[in-house]
Amino acid sequence: MTVPTRHFDALIIGAGGAGLNAALQLANAELRVAVVSKVFPTRSHTVAAQGGVNAALANVMPDSWHWHMFDTVKGSDYLGDQDAIEFMCREAIPTVYELEHAGVPFSRLADGKIYQRAFGGQSQNFGGEQAARTCAAADRTGHAILHTLYQQNIRARTHFFDEFFALDLVRDAEGVICGALVLEIESGQPLLIEAKAILLATGGWGQVFRTTSNAHINTGDGAAMALRAGIPLMDMEFFQFHPTGIAGKGMLISEGTRGEGGYLINKDGERFMERYAPRAKDLASRDVVARAIVTEVKAGRGCGAQGDHVLLKLDHLDEALIAQRLPGIRELSKIFAGVDPAVAPIPVFPTAHYAMGGIPTDRFGRVAVPAGRGEEIVAGLYAAGECACASVHGANRLGGNSLLDILVFGRLAGKDIIEFVKENPYQRTTDPLSLELALARLTRWDRQDAGISVATLRAEFRKCMEDHAGVFRTEEVMAEGYQKLCELREQLAEVRLTDHSKVFNTARIEALELVNMIDVGLSIAVSALHRRESRGAHSRPDYPARDDQAWLKHSLYYRDGDRMDYKPVRTKPLTVESFPPKERVY
Ligand SMILES: Cc1cc2nc3c(=O)[nH]c(=O)nc-3n(C[C@H](O)[C@H](O)[C@H](O)COP(=O)(O)OP(=O)(O)OC[C@H]3O[C@@H](n4cnc5c(N)ncnc54)[C@H](O)[C@@H]3O)c2cc1C
Repeated sequence: MTVPTRHFDALIIGAGGAGLNAALQLANAELRVAVVSKVFPTRSHTVAAQGGVNAALANVMPDSWHWHMFDTVKGSDYLGDQDAIEFMCREAIPTVYELEHAGVPFSRLADGKIYQRAFGGQSQNFGGEQAARTCAAADRTGHAILHTLYQQNIRARTHFFDEFFALDLVRDAEGVICGALVLEIESGQPLLIEAKAILLATGGWGQVFRTTSNAHINTGDGAAMALRAGIPLMDMEFFQFHPTGIAGKGMLISEGTRGEGGYLINKDGERFMERYAPRAKDLASRDVVARAIVTEVKAGRGCGAQGDHVLLKLDHLDEALIAQRLPGIRELSKIFAGVDPAVAPIPVFPTAHYAMGGIPTDRFGRVAVPAGRGEEIVAGLYAAGECACASVHGANRLGGNSLLDILVFGRLAGKDIIEFVKENPYQRTTDPLSLELALARLTRWDRQDAGISVATLRAEFRKCMEDHAGVFRTEEVMAEGYQKLCELREQLAEVRLTDHSKVFNTARIEALELVNMIDVGLSIAVSALHRRESRGAHSRPDYPARDDQAWLKHSLYYRDGDRMDYKPVRTKPLTVESFPPKERVY
């Protein structure tokens, strides 16, 4: 089959905040840059981010990047790399001002400065009073950022391939990654895009769990592409369950609600977070609050007829404040929970929210894999945003640090690609065999005999992940989950489509996504099964303590043989002293 081919200096897969901020650097430097996105760019999940982006601007309360760094290291349960964290927290300040100047309509204080709200895990003076570090555009910060970045890219003439689905990375005859095979969803035709550098910015994979705050498109395609290219995924066991999803549905109720003065109660009307985190209470870090909610429900103190959730109280707040600062939350709550939070509390329960792990990169977005005793950069391949793991979140991410991560590291990957392309100006040519392998992933779905449906296997898979890799994990539960996942992986071969048309065949896209999700799900399950300690979001009742002696190290999962490897945490920051591991209390 001959496949039409296009050439660019850089190919960016993903048009969320990470992809668009990288593209903007490249287009402004007059490079030919292609951005591929399976949905229209402004529908990327970044658009859904509510609460805001962290930067120690000190507009509301005293603050410094060093305190931000401390909170992030502590929040990560000491698994984050301190050089990358220092870098991100310093860069946060110019990054937010750059966004402001690019046109992001932040909410304002009376003196005209950017509005900042309190968020979980934020402190002053290395663990002192609550800080207010999260810069917000009401409760639609991601929307404001994504639209601004898209408009700036249009101005800079970035070339967009909207509604193109990336299938797989391709290599030249020497084995160097030199492009990607993509599928035009509208026509069903494949297209080969070759480029000198490639950035994966495909976002997270919350869809691997049944109850999630994530968009339907968050299926981990880029992470699975990396796995198939032989690249390991790092720290995959650390998946964040956000404490306040709408009960039974999963849609997110931002931590900003608690930052504005909301709090959680159990069926006795008790403000139970006071027992779990005496100082930070409802603004303790997310893993702590999520575990507290599950514990309350398990102890029979849950609300509702089934006793299966707790309540988030906002009705004591001024209605004008809710209307001004939390309009989106109010709307979501009315639609999905049938509750106006200005009048009655919202039923909430933890929801699968954010991937701390991902494709391992250095501080410049370059994909870095173990080689011998050290590491080696994969030439021309970059990753940024939620799909990547520059290791700034470690075992638990703080709210407001992901928008920051995608913007800082997206921008830096863009800058590094400019240099890389200068030094490597020649385009490599795809090896026919590599192209054939990628095409086979597509033609496999043309088989017409009977089999299992995508929907059936997907439902079983997502339930399995929820039941066996959730908030609390024991050896027994996880081992059983791994067995089931292996069976589901085998069953993939039996999955068939009934609709074989080409034009806008979304069933085929869902099938391709399912394959990716199962690969990513296994990486989570296997990594979790191996880590015998409790750290951050990975909570094991059978190993309740954090074990720095044995486990202060990053996990690396390889698809080949479900193999695990480990590498040390970088505890040395760039310019300041390191924060040694301490017990984490809020
Ligand atoms: C409801 C919600 C609220 C949040 N609120 C906050 C917040 O207030 N503060 C904060 O810091 N973080 C927040 N987060 C987290 C944060 O928004 C995300 O981690 C971040 O936006 C991810 O950005 P990204 O650029 O990595 O990916 P995304 O924005 O998810 O974009 C991924 C892109 O990849 C493309 N893509 C994926 N697969 C393919 C494929 N196979 N082919 C082609 N294109 C592909 C998609 O089309 C999309 O353009 C929130 C997350 C959610 C779900």
